[in-house]
Amino acid sequence: MTAARALDFYFREGPTVFFTAETTWPWVISSISENVETQLGIPASEIRSEFFPERLHPDDLDRATDDAARLLHNGRAPFLYRVRRSDGTYVLVQGEFCLLRDERGRNQAVVGYWTDRTEQERARAVLSAIPDAIFEVDQEGKFSFFHAKPLQTYVDPSRIIGATLHELLPKDVADLLLNAVKRALASRESQVVKYALPFDSEWRHYQAHLGTSLSQDTAVAIVRDITDDVLHESALRTQKRYLEEANASLEQFVYVASHDLREPLIGVAGFATLLQKRYGAVLDEQGNHFVEEVVSGTKNLEAKIDDLLALSRVSRGNNSGTFALGAAIESAKRCLVGQLNKTPVEFKLPEVMPLVRGDRGQITQVFQNLFSNSIKYRKVDVPTVIEVSVKEDSSPGMLLVSVTDNGIGFDQRHAERIFGVFQRLYTPQQYPGTGIGLAIVRKIVERHGGKVSAVSEPNQGSTFFFTVPKA
Ligand code: ADP
Repeated sequence: MTAARALDFYFREGPTVFFTAETTWPWVISSISENVETQLGIPASEIRSEFFPERLHPDDLDRATDDAARLLHNGRAPFLYRVRRSDGTYVLVQGEFCLLRDERGRNQAVVGYWTDRTEQERARAVLSAIPDAIFEVDQEGKFSFFHAKPLQTYVDPSRIIGATLHELLPKDVADLLLNAVKRALASRESQVVKYALPFDSEWRHYQAHLGTSLSQDTAVAIVRDITDDVLHESALRTQKRYLEEANASLEQFVYVASHDLREPLIGVAGFATLLQKRYGAVLDEQGNHFVEEVVSGTKNLEAKIDDLLALSRVSRGNNSGTFALGAAIESAKRCLVGQLNKTPVEFKLPEVMPLVRGDRGQITQVFQNLFSNSIKYRKVDVPTVIEVSVKEDSSPGMLLVSVTDNGIGFDQRHAERIFGVFQRLYTPQQYPGTGIGLAIVRKIVERHGGKVSAVSEPNQGSTFFFTVPKA
C-alpha cells in the first residue's frame, strides 16, 4: 500500500476528521475527509457553507467566533464544540484550527482536525456523578488512576499518581488494602474491606470493593464513605442499650413496687375479712355491703398486683431450651384442669408437633393464657372448641402458631389494644380478669423474637397468632 492509499484509508475510516476552509468568517469548508459521514451522518460532498456556523450548538457560537479571532492572531486555536448530526443529536468534537499563510504572510486557508469526544465526555460525566472514590493500584500498591471528590481525598490529589498505598496511608490501612489487592489479583474475585482514616477533627469510615482491571494486572477499588451509616448504627446501638437499661430498671421498679404493695394490701384484705366475719352480725345491711366492697376491691387489687409481678418476671426466662410444642400445650392443659373440669372443651391439635426453641415454662404460659381466655370468653350455648395449628412462618427460622376458638369474639378494631397492660373489653362484673393475660403473652413472644396478632369478629370466634423460633 502506498502512503497516499494509506492516507486515503485513514481519511475514510480513521477517527479524526480533517478539513480545509476559507479564511473569512464564517468559514466555508472547501474540503473535508470522508469519515465525517460516519461521525455526523452527512456526506462530505454536502458539507460546505452550512457547516460554520449552522451546525454548531447555539451556545457554542460565541466561542467559535472568539476562536476564529484567536486563530487570526495566534495562527492556531484549539476548540471544543457540540456539532449537530443529521438526526438532530449533538456530538462533542475536540480539535484544533491552524492558519496557513503564503510566503508573504497572507492568509491562505484554515486547516483543522477534530475527533469525537462524546463517549469520553459521557464517561467523565458519569464518573463525576458517582459519589464514590475510584482508585487503580498495582501489585505493589502503586496508584495508576484515581477519581475522587475533593472531600473524600485523604491526601493532596497531586501526590497520588505514582505513589504507593504505604506512602500515602497509615500503615495498618495500607496493609489491609494491599492484602485485599493481592487477594483480588490472585483469586480474580472481588474483595470488600472496611477501614477508618483520621481527619483533623474526626474519623471517617470507608468501605472498599476491589476487583481486577481489564488488563488483570491492577486492582480497581471503589471506595465509599460510610461514615454517616457507621455513626447512625453506633447511635442506634447506644440508644438500644439505653432503652434496654431503662426497660430493665422500669421492670425492677414494677417488681419492687408490686412486691411492696402486696404486703399492706394483704393486711387490709385480712382485716376486712375479719370485720366481715366477726362484726357482720352487728353491721346493718349497708355496713355489710361496704365491707363486701372493701373485700372484693382488695381481692381485685391483689390479683392485679400478682399479674403485674408475673409480667415483670417474664424477662427472666431462659430462651435457649428445646422442646416439642405439644409438651407445652399438654402442660398448659394440665394447669387449667380446674377450668376444664367445669367447662368441657374439645381440643383439635396438629398431628405432628415440631420442636421449638425457647423457655418451655413461658411458652406453656402463652398457651395457658390463650386457652383460658377461649374458655372464659366462650359462648354459653355451644360446646367450646379450641383448635391449635402450626405452620412455617414467612420469616425464616420461625413457626406460626394459631389458637382459634368458637367464642364470643370481639370487634377487630380492638385487636391491637387488647395486648396492652390492663386493657379489657368488659367490666370485672361481666367477665372476671385483670387485663394482663395477653400483655404477658405478647411480652413472652417478643422476648423469643416473635410477634403476636389477633383476628376476630363479634360472635364469630377469635384466632390468636404468635410466632416462635424453630429448634
Ligand atoms: P383478661 O382476660 O384478664 O381481661 P387479657 O389480657 O387476657 O385479660 O385479655 C384482654 C381482653 O381481650 C379481654 O378482656 C377480652 O375482652 C379480650 N379477649 C381476650 N381473649 C379473647 C377471646 N378468646 N375471645 C374474645 N375476647 C377475648
